[in-house]
Amino acid sequence: MMKPLEDYIRTIPDYPKKGIMFRDVTSLWQDAQGFRRVIDALVHPFIGEKIDKIVGIESRGFVLGGAIAHQLSVGFVPLRKKGKLPYKTYSQEYTLEYGTDVLEMHIDAIEKGERVLIVDDLIATGGTAEAAVKLIHQVGGHIVGTAFIIDLPDLGGSEKLKAMNIPILALTSFEGH
Ligand code: AMP
Repeated sequence: MMKPLEDYIRTIPDYPKKGIMFRDVTSLWQDAQGFRRVIDALVHPFIGEKIDKIVGIESRGFVLGGAIAHQLSVGFVPLRKKGKLPYKTYSQEYTLEYGTDVLEMHIDAIEKGERVLIVDDLIATGGTAEAAVKLIHQVGGHIVGTAFIIDLPDLGGSEKLKAMNIPILALTSFEGH
């Protein structure tokens, strides 16, 4: 029988602060079968969909997004933390499960009307994904969907995206924080 996906994901209690159960996908990625399985599962629903760009959120969204963009033969756009992108950017502030931050995108990364898939490892409160949605909408991009390995439904992020009419794919979910 195939090992359940959840068994590849290591949980680190109280990281980076007390009360957070950190879902560590590096234990999944370092396993050849584990990595291939998640990439295949994240790509499969979008085969045949018209997609122009994969948007990956720093930094675990880069690993997934790069592999997905390659598989779908589409472009890749990184959304980065403040001050990391070298060219002119649009910025969006957002609230995290632990703190606040700013995401940035190059102003020419997505053209008006382009169809975009947003990728990250995990959705919790949805603050990060919402910032990505706002950046893409700001330049007139169309969001085909969002794709994550893990959903933490108790934190409400996936519900928030659904309420905004943004389709969401998550391969697995964990209860609690
Ligand atoms: P949020 O904006 O609250 O949806 O948080 C999502 C972002 O924070 C993602 O980029 C995740 O990698 C990271 N994150 C939030 N909570 C966790 C957690 N419990 N375990 C691992 N990563 C997390």
